[in-house]
Amino acid sequence: MRALPVLQPARSARPLAAPSTPPRAVRLSLTDRCDLACIYCRPHKHDGYLERRLSTDEWRVLVHGLVGAGVRRVRITGGEPLLFPGVVDFVAAIADLGLEDLAITTNATRLERLAAPLRAAGLHRINVSLDTLDSQRFFRITRGGNLAQVLRGIDAAVAAGFDPIKLNTVVVRGENDDEVEAIARFAWERGLVPRFLEVMPIGDGQTLSDRMVPFSEIRARLEHLLEPVDPAREADRGPARYVARRGHAHQRVGFITGTTDTFCRGCDRLRVASDGTLRPCLATNDGVSPTLALARRDADLVTDAVHAAWEMKPDGEVWKGCTEETAREVSIRQIGG
Ligand code: SAM
Repeated sequence: MRALPVLQPARSARPLAAPSTPPRAVRLSLTDRCDLACIYCRPHKHDGYLERRLSTDEWRVLVHGLVGAGVRRVRITGGEPLLFPGVVDFVAAIADLGLEDLAITTNATRLERLAAPLRAAGLHRINVSLDTLDSQRFFRITRGGNLAQVLRGIDAAVAAGFDPIKLNTVVVRGENDDEVEAIARFAWERGLVPRFLEVMPIGDGQTLSDRMVPFSEIRARLEHLLEPVDPAREADRGPARYVARRGHAHQRVGFITGTTDTFCRGCDRLRVASDGTLRPCLATNDGVSPTLALARRDADLVTDAVHAAWEMKPDGEVWKGCTEETAREVSIRQIGG
């Protein structure tokens, strides 16, 4: 990792995109801690955590610096962001900045208690990860998770008025590929948007490459339910592409094709790892550490560090992030999935 002092020009061995526009979207890995150990993410629950953790105060300074650099959309993730002490206060603090979008991605194990407070704090949207509707499978895929707890969390998010709520399912052959239709119907019945993800060869996903189910196959499992059209992106909402349910224009399904069709081209996303490192790409460990800026609680210095990190953004046409060798070395918990 590059721990560049702030303002030092960045260099990278990769082809760079030299972005002409500033980063518009950021993902914050609020903590690398997680109470689950999903098979495509980490080897087990005791694979170690980063020593350096940011305080709520440091996170606030970071977000101010990001907004100063042009960021308008923030997604809080991890690790499991709802394990971060003070997550509700943090959301309340950044909700006041008038962002276009403020969202969380969570495994929902703590959502039953936190959904209403997060809504009151000003959170706009929630995405929940859910790979199966079978409790024994859930226990196996997450290495110990309790499905009933997660379903109560989803109910609480619906009751709190979040809309849309997206449900993210990573499809793994032999684990849950036979549940694609059941999960889509489960989501639609509750007013949620189901989304299916290909396993990416990032982190422990590399151990499942031979069990990756491609978009074409996931879609084929749903073909009889969907309009016969090409999936389309939502403006400013990341790489997912959507198709409407046949005869139900307001019910959709999303596909995220990180492996068969990488979505690096035009990526306007920056990431902040759980130790504060500013990362230009999910699929490398390149980054800029804003340690000095945070020690001084100086948001303007953070903005300078953001610009330096953005200069390191790899080109997304020649160099395709998640399918490159460097993706294997990345911890998705630290960098924020
Ligand atoms: N703990 C939260 C959760 O479970 O939603 C947030 C962090 S999790 C790393 C964020 C997302 O990354 C989840 O939807 C998860 O399924 C996805 N993810 C993690 N590793 C992946 C991989 N190798 N391929 C595809 N998706 C992956």
